[in-house]
Amino acid sequence: MENLIFEKSVKGRFSRYVQDPGIALDRADKLISSQYLRKDLPLPSLGELDVVRHYTRLSSLNYGVDTNFYPLGSCTMKYNPKINEQTAALPGFISSHPLQDESDLQGCLALIYDLEKMLAEITGMPYFTFQPCAGAQGEFTGMMIVRAWHEHKKQPRSKVIVPDSSHGTNPASAAMCGYKVEMVESNSRGLVDIDKLAEKIDRDTAAVMLTNPNTLGLFETGIMDLAELAHKKGALLYYDGANFNALLGKTHPGKMGFDVLHLNLHKTFSTPHGGGGPGSGAVGVSKKLRSFLPVPVIEKKGKKYRLKTDLRHSIGKVHAFYGNFSVLVKTYAYLLRLGREGLSRASENAVLNARYLEKMLQDVLIPASNEPCMHETVFSALNFKQQGLHALDIAKRLIDYGIHPPTMYFPLIVKEALMIEPTETESKETLDRFVSVMKKIKQEAELDPELLKTAPHNTELKRLDEVKAARFPDLRWKKTGE
Ligand SMILES: *Cc1c(COP(=O)(O)O)cnc(C)c1O
Repeated sequence: MENLIFEKSVKGRFSRYVQDPGIALDRADKLISSQYLRKDLPLPSLGELDVVRHYTRLSSLNYGVDTNFYPLGSCTMKYNPKINEQTAALPGFISSHPLQDESDLQGCLALIYDLEKMLAEITGMPYFTFQPCAGAQGEFTGMMIVRAWHEHKKQPRSKVIVPDSSHGTNPASAAMCGYKVEMVESNSRGLVDIDKLAEKIDRDTAAVMLTNPNTLGLFETGIMDLAELAHKKGALLYYDGANFNALLGKTHPGKMGFDVLHLNLHKTFSTPHGGGGPGSGAVGVSKKLRSFLPVPVIEKKGKKYRLKTDLRHSIGKVHAFYGNFSVLVKTYAYLLRLGREGLSRASENAVLNARYLEKMLQDVLIPASNEPCMHETVFSALNFKQQGLHALDIAKRLIDYGIHPPTMYFPLIVKEALMIEPTETESKETLDRFVSVMKKIKQEAELDPELLKTAPHNTELKRLDEVKAARFPDLRWKKTGE
């Protein structure tokens, strides 16, 4: 176990890089003796090498796409090319500030403007806001736009319909916008039951929220009928773009009749994520919803880019400035590098890889559906029940083999769900190793179920009480042994 850096502190030890402190340190000393900074901060005292070793060790305890396979379904943990980071770190980008004058920021504004145009082509939604910082915030923004639209038409509505397979953030976002949420059941194929939807949808329905492919990894083949049904009743159709990695360059939500969507730029368009950000839940809308977008939006007049703040029905701001700008730079770099051809090949390979795992794991787990999957595949671990084992035990045992577990217990409509999304960036060798590890775990379950029940065994911390951690989080720092 690695001690906290505070526990490693030795009184009087320090590291100073600068031989001749000169003016800068003089000023620092003055600041410290002024009222602005406290002298008695209990900061640790350590030498440079102590600090370097401490953080290098910690970084190697961390798990990421750069260390091993990460098939976390619905999260699209694809490899994030390093050139994205290098581009986002160019001095012109990192030294700019949103409070600078527009004329100083032409390059940054041009990038956002061009990105909007590219995403418009990819999604079929002509206008975007980049303020929301996560998919969930994008949903919330989208729902605020939906609400403002109906209110503008003097027909406020009170409910939003989501499928029973939907991601938890969908009903949560609708509820946070003050809507009643109604579930529509999936049929035996795992698709939205259109007849049941037809019964639920009425003139009080503000929107239907869908993701396509859905959370079972299946393409909603009835999408055109669904859209027609929603529009006939005056409801809007919201697209949760978290699963867009399956469709890039092949088709788009605009063609399917969607009115408003969010993209998870940090998933589909490759920014490292999973540690809480920074992310981007860019929201795209059809032409009729443009005037409801958060402000500012970016316009081009002649050769100049400018910020437009006077959108007629704007819902206001949902975040400072333009959201997480560095994520937009990474998205832009990613799109330029792949181009049209590369983008649609990314989706082809994402689907191919998922279908390969779908086939190869047929004897290990129970497929959740008979339909061919798109970019992710869902299984049930109910066949481990005989040994008293659960999806959780398989997930924990995978950690011992150095593989990040798939998403567990989601979607909720599949018992003991394991949702596997390999993404396009994984090689066949990696997928084959995953399959052989899964087969090995199946054998272990039959021979020695206890091995799974108590996994992981090779990690710093063993099996944790996750319920207790969630219900009674204790984040206070205690000295070891206290
Ligand atoms: C990840 C995800 C979201 C939420 O996106 P965040 O960026 O994590 O807030 C919504 N819907 C689906 C289907 C997702 O996979």
